[in-house]
Amino acid sequence: MGVSDLEDDDVFEDVRERVDRPMARLFRTYGWKYRFPFAIGFVSSVVARILDLLPPLLLAVAIDAIFGKQDYSLWLVPDVWLPDGQVAQMWLTVGIIAAAFLIGAVFHWTRNWGWNTFSQNIQHNVRTDTYDKMQRLNMDFFADKQTGELMSILSNDVNRLERFLNDGMNSFFRLAIMVIGIAVILFSMNWQLALIALVPVPVIAFFTKKFIEIIQPKYAEVRSSVGQLNSRLENNLGGIQVIKAANTESFESDRVDDVSSDYFDANWDAIGTRIKFFPGLRLISGLGFVLTFIVGGLWVLGEPLGPLSGSLRAGQFVAFILYTQRFIWPMAQFGQIINMYQRAYASSERIFGLMDTPSRIVEDPDAEPLEVTDGHVEFDDVTFGYDDEEAIVEDISFEVEGGDTVALVGPTGAGKSTVMKLLLRMYDVDDGAIEVDGTDLREATIPSLRQAMGYVSQETFLFYGTVRENIEYGTFDVEKAEIVEAAKMAEAHRFIQNLPEGYDTKVGERGVKLSGGQRQRIALARAILKDPDILVLDEATSDVDTETEMLIQRSLNELTADRTTFAIAHRLSTIKDAEKIVVIEDGRIVEWGTHADLLAEDGLYAKLWAVQAGEIDELPQEFIERAARRRAQTETEADD
Ligand code: ADP
Repeated sequence: MGVSDLEDDDVFEDVRERVDRPMARLFRTYGWKYRFPFAIGFVSSVVARILDLLPPLLLAVAIDAIFGKQDYSLWLVPDVWLPDGQVAQMWLTVGIIAAAFLIGAVFHWTRNWGWNTFSQNIQHNVRTDTYDKMQRLNMDFFADKQTGELMSILSNDVNRLERFLNDGMNSFFRLAIMVIGIAVILFSMNWQLALIALVPVPVIAFFTKKFIEIIQPKYAEVRSSVGQLNSRLENNLGGIQVIKAANTESFESDRVDDVSSDYFDANWDAIGTRIKFFPGLRLISGLGFVLTFIVGGLWVLGEPLGPLSGSLRAGQFVAFILYTQRFIWPMAQFGQIINMYQRAYASSERIFGLMDTPSRIVEDPDAEPLEVTDGHVEFDDVTFGYDDEEAIVEDISFEVEGGDTVALVGPTGAGKSTVMKLLLRMYDVDDGAIEVDGTDLREATIPSLRQAMGYVSQETFLFYGTVRENIEYGTFDVEKAEIVEAAKMAEAHRFIQNLPEGYDTKVGERGVKLSGGQRQRIALARAILKDPDILVLDEATSDVDTETEMLIQRSLNELTADRTTFAIAHRLSTIKDAEKIVVIEDGRIVEWGTHADLLAEDGLYAKLWAVQAGEIDELPQEFIERAARRRAQTETEADD
């Protein structure tokens, strides 16, 4: 068993507990659909194994007929059908053995076809269903669970299921048929000697059980230490820049050495047990073999061994020896299969655990597609918290007339992005309501809602693919000219043209690296191309230099002229022309109005404006104190 596939720890314990009989559910939900290939695999397994067992039996008959002067007779075949001459009998034997191999090969093929079709299809369905379910889960699910853990379910766990369904079940049936088939043949040839030949079986079963008991905790140890090693390596590679800058290479090498040594020790401990077990099994089966050889051999020679007496023909003796050889190993392999089953069981618990995770955002069965006529948006007394304990935004009420631009302004952490996420229905409000043209968001279908809104955030993610694909993402099927037009409006056209392959340059994780500002401009072009009814710009130009921002602003003015727009911006100059500016502090609206109104009011906005305009050096003391208090409070909460 490899160790590389053991790297994940149980991160889904909480959901696991709710999953009942996961393997039964797996077969019910996914297996039943593929019962036809399963049946082919199963029947072929049986036939192929029976054919595999034929040659030693025929060999025994042939040896006894030729050397032992016995009558040539075959099971289930009337004697009158058999030829008389020895040469003819030999040819018949050869013919049957050859036919058995040939037919056997065909059945081995159909068996593999059946099992692989069964397991690959289940694997594919489970993976796509799990992914489908996962991307529909709430955003907070992704905040809690690390991407690595989710990846491990989608890859490791699904693969492990496949391995069991294919190799595990296949081997199980193969071994079961072998063991039963051989036992039947041995007992029907000579039941006394069969008993002697089977003496090692209970001994091996006992040792295998012990072995599993001892090795399981050791494998768990390996699993956990390889998990730690991977986390450490991943962390260090991600933070390589910090390591270099802080000159901590040797410190980190030592830390890696430590976790790697733990892994080494755990692994060596498991290996130590494993490498003793298999030779031990060989020894026991060897002893059984010797015992059968002695007793059987003496019986062939007509000598009893102490109280054990019996008669045996030379051919039968050969068949016994060949069969016992084949019998012992399957016994040891059962342990492996049980192991595979246990791992597949744990994996399916995790998979179904994920599938059963409830989604907080559910579409109302009576939901209708959202129809944006005017673009009027109203927040009515909205309160929301990411967890049940603390409200992040409270009593938020404001209205935006269709086509207007509203800017949200306030210190970092005030809750501006949260308000926008509520509008996009990434989360549902705890209290109050958000309405678009009089329709509560919760009464609209989710796809229609997302279709109506365009969102450009501070953190722009580009998919691995060409620039063009990234711009048309979500719109699809658009002319190149439209893409170029959108890019021009987002001030992205020029730099895109300078990329090695223009719009066909690959960007994203493995592609050409773009700066934050360039990524934002591509994201902006994407939103422009989508041409949504409502546009949400959350610090959409924060990474762009001031000069480019001014250029983009010109296009944005055109873009937002007749479109309801929400804009969050730190640089107040970019939003001062908004029809309405809502100032949020600490999750509450503290003031609102136009730029001129707010300046006249001389509150937080006026102060922020003065700082940015260079009229005063810093915020008045009272604001700084308030911010410091807020920070201290957040930090104490984080410590709790
Ligand atoms: P702003 O956009 O004004 O900077 P945010 O809306 O991003 O503020 O954040 C408001 C508060 O909500 C912050 O205290 C932040 O730590 C918290 N917060 C933001 N996102 C989450 C989340 N996914 N889970 C829990 N708390 C969050």
